[in-house]
Formats: sequence, C-alpha cells, structure tokens
Amino acid sequence: MMGDDLYQEVILDHAKRPRNKGCACQFSHCAEGYNPLCGDEIKVYVHVVDGALSCIKFDGHGCAISTASASLMTEAVEGRDVDDAAAMADEVLALVTGKRANADGLGKLVVLEGVARFPSRVKCAALAWHALKAALNGESDLVTTE
Ligand code: ZN
Repeated sequence: MMGDDLYQEVILDHAKRPRNKGCACQFSHCAEGYNPLCGDEIKVYVHVVDGALSCIKFDGHGCAISTASASLMTEAVEGRDVDDAAAMADEVLALVTGKRANADGLGKLVVLEGVARFPSRVKCAALAWHALKAALNGESDLVTTE
C-alpha cells in the first residue's frame, strides 16, 4: 500500500536532488514560508504568464520532507493555470492534514499521503503549498505554519 512509509523512495529522491531549486531569475509572484516547529524556510518564486505558471522555483532550506514536498510541488504545478494550481494546493493541504481520504487525481503527489500519519511532519509537507498559495494571492509577507 502506498503511503505507509514516510520516507519513500520518491521522497528521498526529491529531498536529495530537489527539482527547480534555486533563485528564479524572473518571477512575478513570490512568498516565503517558515515552519518554526522544524526550522524549515522555503521561498517560492512563480512567474505567471497569461494566467498560467510558466515557471516555478523554490529556494531555502529545510528537512527532507519540506524539501521533497516543495520539489514535488514545482513539478506538479508548473504549466497549470493559477486557479488549477491554487486548487491543487488546497487538495494537497487536505491530504497531508488527513482531511482527505485518498490522493485520487493527485498523481505522483500520492507519496505525500503518508505524512498525515506523522503529525510532527504535517507542517513540513504543507509549508511549500502554503507559500505557493500566498504567492499566488499576491501576499508578500512571510507566511508561517503557526
Ligand atoms: Zn521540516
């Protein structure tokens, strides 16, 4: 069954070799997230062109789960419409907080399903998605998980 082991291969791979990590050279939206419980800091840069996320990058430092979640997020939402990306963020946040029973329709993000069973890691997994939502909402202030 998927999701029983928190540190699945996909999570470890994205934690070790994060995709789309580094400062964006060009972006229209940006927000920074901070999770004081774990010390994770993630900044999300999004370049929106014609209502779609033409480019998304993240930067910062954090634990394996926060890094992997951010990396998976950039792959999942790149190219999507802003509304789609925001809706996906809501679905993932529901998944990792256990408010959603399954990961149907979330593709590869199913690997985040197991996080809901590890309360201390939920905020790590949610951080990048909160930052994405804040960026898309045009909120430039620091968002925290608290
Ligand atoms: Zn963390």
